[in-house]
Amino acid sequence: MNVTFSLLAKNVTKTAFRNSSYSCKVLVVGGGTGGCATAAKLSRILKKNELIIIEPSDKHYYQPLFTLVGGGISTLSEAGKSMRDVLPANAVWLKDSAAEFNPGENSVTTQRGHSIKYEYLLIATGLQTDYDKIPGLEAGLSGDTGVCSNYSAKYVELTYKALKNFESGNAIFTYPNTPVKCPGAPQKICYITDHYLRKVGKRDKAAVIYNTSLPVIFGVKKYADALWEICAERQIQVNLRTNLVEVRPDSREAVFQNLDNPDKMTTLKYSMLHVTPPMSTPAALQNCSELTNEAGFVDVNKLTLQSVRFANVFAIGDCSSTPNSKTAAAAAAQCQVVFKNMESVMKNTPATANYDGYASCPLVTGYDRCILAEFDYNLTPLETFPFNQGKELKSMYLMKKMLMPPLYWTLMLNGFWNGPAAVRNLLHLKFSQK
Ligand SMILES: Cc1cc2nc3c(=O)[nH]c(=O)nc-3n(C[C@H](O)[C@H](O)[C@H](O)COP(=O)(O)OP(=O)(O)OC[C@H]3O[C@@H](n4cnc5c(N)ncnc54)[C@H](O)[C@@H]3O)c2cc1C
Repeated sequence: MNVTFSLLAKNVTKTAFRNSSYSCKVLVVGGGTGGCATAAKLSRILKKNELIIIEPSDKHYYQPLFTLVGGGISTLSEAGKSMRDVLPANAVWLKDSAAEFNPGENSVTTQRGHSIKYEYLLIATGLQTDYDKIPGLEAGLSGDTGVCSNYSAKYVELTYKALKNFESGNAIFTYPNTPVKCPGAPQKICYITDHYLRKVGKRDKAAVIYNTSLPVIFGVKKYADALWEICAERQIQVNLRTNLVEVRPDSREAVFQNLDNPDKMTTLKYSMLHVTPPMSTPAALQNCSELTNEAGFVDVNKLTLQSVRFANVFAIGDCSSTPNSKTAAAAAAQCQVVFKNMESVMKNTPATANYDGYASCPLVTGYDRCILAEFDYNLTPLETFPFNQGKELKSMYLMKKMLMPPLYWTLMLNGFWNGPAAVRNLLHLKFSQK
């Protein structure tokens, strides 16, 4: 059986048979945020076809927009583009999934049985959403039962539907007991829901509840303090260390476990249930202990993003072991570091570029406001603008809605955006000189 093997030079496609063998200078596994942006940089220093990208999806999504899709502010079609149109034209796209990593042999085997030999490898598979790990959840998401989730293109449109259908009762928002991408997103939709219900005059008929497995509302104290104030002011009930373990769509009930007292289960009725599912790295990584840590994340030096065991292997984004907040903003800051270090290793010089753990999270707290959290590995605020970003601001909301999407599609995916460090330095220098 033939499979599609796409040469991205416009409109040229080849077919390849099962169990074919390929070789390349650089192999990128995953064409999402980090993989695509770094591949764009690498393709400029490599010859045509020296770079292969393994990526199974036809669509590339700008996932940060899913929060706004869930709130009925943006559409799903605005959040996605054809994968062919975003991957670099100088690279070869193998539309397939990595099934087995063999770092000792410098090769990757794909689901369709192809074997790809590489000189250098960049792993960028992101995190998969494990909706199937919570009994009853997929059944709930398949019907019109008030269950929704912004974390998947498949389900995100259910959120605004659930908002519009809400009449009264509990609106519950969850945060799972695993690492997640964008740890702020599970509560952003909670604030949007609160604001929506106020706008349509139904807030007094609703209990808005945020149940999180974490022991804190947010990891950085400055922003956590602001969020606690918002929850108190808007009467949003926050339950820490509370983990969703079952959904019963027929009776519209959700079962939660108290993580500090695991025998204690609480069953809550819901009218709306927004679920952030458990997440994990793909099985191909989980099964490769040479490359990964115990939790299945690619084990890299947190500064250089180079594998701790294989000098020719790097990782970027959500699948890496770096202890930063997993966001597209972090991947933007990482991609220049990975690119520089891969370039150095290709020239037989040491990898010296360092990542400082920068991540940002635009905490949308309503239909016209946002707290722009930015911080580093030490959870110290690292704000771009010379004003207090710990406040709800309309300007930050407009930036999230109007500026970030075009910046992503035009600059970041073409390898021209490395995060806001340069802008921050410029703005802070300018203002500190006054
Ligand atoms: C609801 C939501 C809101 C968010 N909000 C924000 C925000 O406001 N700001 C922000 O900065 N970030 C936000 N994020 C997080 C951001 O989208 C991710 O952190 C970012 O996309 C991570 O990039 P990545 O390259 O690591 O993974 P991804 O972009 O997820 O890409 C991974 C790619 O790898 C591919 N892949 C998976 N398995 C394999 C395999 N075995 N072989 C080959 N390819 C594979 C996938 O198909 C995918 O294309 C949000 C995410 C969500 C879901």
